[in-house]
Amino acid sequence: MMTHTAAGLVWLAGVLGWYGIRYPFERKANKIGVRKSLFDRRETTILAFVLLCLFVLPLSYVLLGFPASLDRPFIPAIAWLGLVPLAAALWLFRQSHVVLGRNWSISLELRDQHALVKTGVYRLIRHPMYSSFFLLGIAQMLLLSNWLQDASALLGAGAFYAFRISREEKMMLECFGDDYRAYMAHTKQFIPWLI
Ligand code: SAH
Repeated sequence: MMTHTAAGLVWLAGVLGWYGIRYPFERKANKIGVRKSLFDRRETTILAFVLLCLFVLPLSYVLLGFPASLDRPFIPAIAWLGLVPLAAALWLFRQSHVVLGRNWSISLELRDQHALVKTGVYRLIRHPMYSSFFLLGIAQMLLLSNWLQDASALLGAGAFYAFRISREEKMMLECFGDDYRAYMAHTKQFIPWLI
């Protein structure tokens, strides 16, 4: 049975799974040298903001019920629906780590012998990992019946889109030139064939 508490626990299991997926890749990637880094204060702020919106605020809601004044009615069917984007988010997050492999960074960085990845989930979209954050945000909205969690899910998932992507693509263009330009020409950013 899907109750308010169960939906919160499903969200919690999802984010624990999320970190469980990342941890081994993070450990491996951190052993690889960095050739160019744009990891500055702006990047740290974006990461802290995403952490606040997609982890700290929903966690405080699940554990403490805060802010109860912004609760909206809990509808079990909607919470059930939340399982779909949550599973999709975890799948896409893992796939993008598997395919990106040693080229992954938590911020804007180019690794030693960085390779341009165009296969797997990168074949049709350039930012599958950021798409997976959007799916996680949608799951947060469907599982947690609270207006603050809705707003923070949208803001947290949108932060990479609003503040990182153009810089990331500029960095990739500078590094890979025509190769990245050609890759851009036949891919979308987030949703295959759409946007
Ligand atoms: N924006 C991508 C990757 C996120 S990880 C996604 O959403 O899936 C961020 C790092 O990945 C960046 O620092 C950049 O160096 C690297 N990167 C991004 N796209 C890449 C690609 N197609 N091939 C190789 N590395 C890439």
